[in-house]
Parts: sequence; structure tokens; C-alpha cells
Amino acid sequence: MKKQTTILILLVHLSWLLFPSIIAAAPKQTPNFIVIFCDDLGYGDLGSFGNPTIRTPSLDRMAAEGQRWTSFYAADSVCTPSRAALLTGRLPIRTGMFSDTRRVLFPDSAGGLPSSEITMAELLKTRGYATAAIGKWHLGWQPEFLPMKQGFDSYFGIPYSNDMDATFRPSARSEYFNFLKNPKREYWNVPLMRNEQILERPAEQTTITERYTDEAIKFISANKSKPFFLYLAHSMPHVPLFRSKKFENKSARGLYGDVIEELDANVGRLLDTLRHLKLDRKTLVIFTSDNGPWATFEEQGGSAGLLRGAKGGTYEGGMREPTIFWQPGVIKPGVVTDIGSTLDLLPTFCALAGVKAPADRALDGYDLSEALRGRGRGPRQTMFYWRGSRLYAARHGSFKAHFITRSEYGGEPEVTHDPPLLYNLDHDPSEKWNVADKYPEVIAEIRRIAEAHKSGIPPVENQLDKRIAVSRTR
Ligand code: MG
Repeated sequence: MKKQTTILILLVHLSWLLFPSIIAAAPKQTPNFIVIFCDDLGYGDLGSFGNPTIRTPSLDRMAAEGQRWTSFYAADSVCTPSRAALLTGRLPIRTGMFSDTRRVLFPDSAGGLPSSEITMAELLKTRGYATAAIGKWHLGWQPEFLPMKQGFDSYFGIPYSNDMDATFRPSARSEYFNFLKNPKREYWNVPLMRNEQILERPAEQTTITERYTDEAIKFISANKSKPFFLYLAHSMPHVPLFRSKKFENKSARGLYGDVIEELDANVGRLLDTLRHLKLDRKTLVIFTSDNGPWATFEEQGGSAGLLRGAKGGTYEGGMREPTIFWQPGVIKPGVVTDIGSTLDLLPTFCALAGVKAPADRALDGYDLSEALRGRGRGPRQTMFYWRGSRLYAARHGSFKAHFITRSEYGGEPEVTHDPPLLYNLDHDPSEKWNVADKYPEVIAEIRRIAEAHKSGIPPVENQLDKRIAVSRTR
């Protein structure tokens, strides 16, 4: 025993000699990270983002104690590409997680996030972080693409959208709406998975928000003494909308409001757990959403507030998300109007955890840590709005140019604009007044930035158009 202890002490000393640079680079205290990622939550759906009827006291408190970012973007307007971008810090056009036809992965999709991509979970694991993915995955559900192949120690959730595997074929839109108004578990035969096994099918969705949170609380409690990264991707409020008995008919906003109020209460449970375990000052929590509200479903979808457009489109409502950063004592409370994106989370986490960001590939994010601490402006000046393989719009500073527009889901052809439509988002967040004729020099600059951006992107294999042979469908 004594001999073993001596060897161990020797090894510890040797590691200092062998890896002094690594140890010197490690910050004093690396924070835990929690990303709470909603599905199809609109910019205007929280009290703290202006909703007049939905009550969100926990998120409003989180916003008051933390930073409320008002120009924070998902990297795409639909689920799969947006999620791929968040986890890799790279635009979908670089990872193959885009499509001009299917737009997201489906249960019969053969593709997924390639293993050659490096996720934030994989990076944080190199620093000894415990990692868990809970909730919607939607980055491939064939065995080689599941969360545990992408840097997560465990997984619990519905691996794709909760409206897939429908067991009925509505003959008309009105019939589908009737199914949605009173959704039953058996209408959508989606699996609930633990790690790589199916636990339950069809998943019981009325308790899904609460069960995801229970799992999250268990993970946090089990890892309270070591650094952890939790990716909590709620299936709600994507239609079909489910909520538990406790929240039935509680909101003035109807079924959609009930769902948001239940989400809010569960964010409250999570933050209370952090406070109770004295992890609140050690844990950076980010609350945001993958894309804008699904307006196609009328009042079953959320609201983009004063923003134009919705899920599926490149007007602001499709990609600008209600976003809150929270870490009491570290994040400087306030409202931040700087541009930010889910693409920035990977470089920010790397900076805060003392992990080197991958240098062998292009990243599309920026380190926001100085802005979060209140030490300066955010570094991001530009945001690109891709739809599949096409760059539809670009924002630089206050101005956004739309080169192409198209209805979110209507199927109408695209409309090319030359000169592009130009909006000053600081004066006109609703994109109502085209000021292209007043600022030809701004258009020239945004064109230059957009062309340089496009020319720097090499072609990659498309992952979303591949389908499995029928015999492999489970
Ligand atoms: Mg979504």
C-alpha cells in the first residue's frame, strides 16, 4: 500500500513536469454549464420579453438576476440545423446538417451529425467535465449518431421532434388541428430513450417537462462536487402541446400558455436546486430556444412579439430568441443589446473552462465571456441567416440586408431582391421600413461581407437528405 502511495505521489509530481503548460493554462475555478434549450419558443413568449398574459416568474427572476440579451440568435430557423450549430459552434452549411428539401431529420433519415465534428461536450470532457444530454436530440437517431457518440456520458429523452411517428393520417388541415387541440399520447408513437435503449413508446408527453427536469436535478446532485455540463433540450413548446394535470387550464393564454408556465416552473426548480446545493455562483446557466414560434399552428404556436416572421424563415422572428444568461456574482445583471448567437456558446465555454477551441476547422462563434462579466461590448458584429444551402440575409451592426426572402412554410418560390431589402434593426426591429435607397454604402459593405463569407465555405456531404432503407425502420 505504502509503495502504491509513493508511486502515485511521484506520478502527480511528474505530471507537473510533463504538462506544465496545460496546468498553468487552467483557470482557478472552472464553472459548470447548463444550456436550457426550448423548442419553438417565440421571442415574445416570456413575461420578461413582453408577453402580456403568460406568467413566467422564475424566468423573469432569472432575467433580473442575470443578463437579458435582446439580439441573440439561433443559427438557423428550424430544429436540426440549429441544434447542430449550438453544439459545434459551426454553421450547418459547414457540417452538412442542412437541406433545401427536408430541412430537418425525420425518423427515416439515415444521416446525423458526423463523428468528425467536435461538440462542446467532447471539448469539456477533456477537462474532466461530467456531461449529460436530456431532452430532444434531433441530430440523428441511428446508433452511430446518438448523444453518447457525441461526448455525452448519458442521455434521456425523445430523440427527435415530438410530432413525428404520427399514427393517423388527417385528410385535411382542420382535422390535424383537431388532433392538436386535444392531443393524446397514442397519436404520436415517439420513443423515449435512456442512453441507447428505448424506455417507453409512445412516450408519455404530459409529464415530459417535469421528467426531463427530474433527470436534470438528479444529474446535478450526483455531480455537485465536480465540473459538469448539462444540455437540457426541452421538447416543449413544439406542437403537439402537452402539459401535466397541475398546469391544465391555468394560463390566460390557453394550452400554449399552460405549457410555457410549466416550463417556467421547472426552470425555477432547477435554479432552486443550484441555490440549495450552493452551486448557483459556480454554474453558468443559459436559457434560449432553437428557433422562432411555429406560426403555422396559429394559437397552438407562440409569438415572436414585435418581430416579423416565425419559425422556418429568415426574418427576425424566425431566429432571434428570448435569451437569458445567469450566474449570480459573476454575470453582471442587465439588458444587453449586443449581437450574440448560440454559435458563440462553444467558444465562450472553451474560454471559461480553459479548453483550447479546435484550431483545425472554421468556427463561426465568438467568446462572449468579457461581455458576460460586464467588461466590454460583445465581439460579434455580424450574423448570417442561412436557409438550407442559400444565404438569404446578413446583419452587420444595426443593418440587415435580405438578398432573398421566402414564406416560412408556404411553399411559394423564393424572391430575390436586388438591391436587397435593408432594415435598421435598432430603429425598426419589426423590419417594416426598407431603407435600401438611403444607404447604398451599407449595402455595398454587407454584400462584401456576405460574399467573403460564402466563398470561405467548402462543400460538404449533405446529412439531411439521406434516407434509410425501409427494412431498417424501427
Ligand atoms: Mg424547433
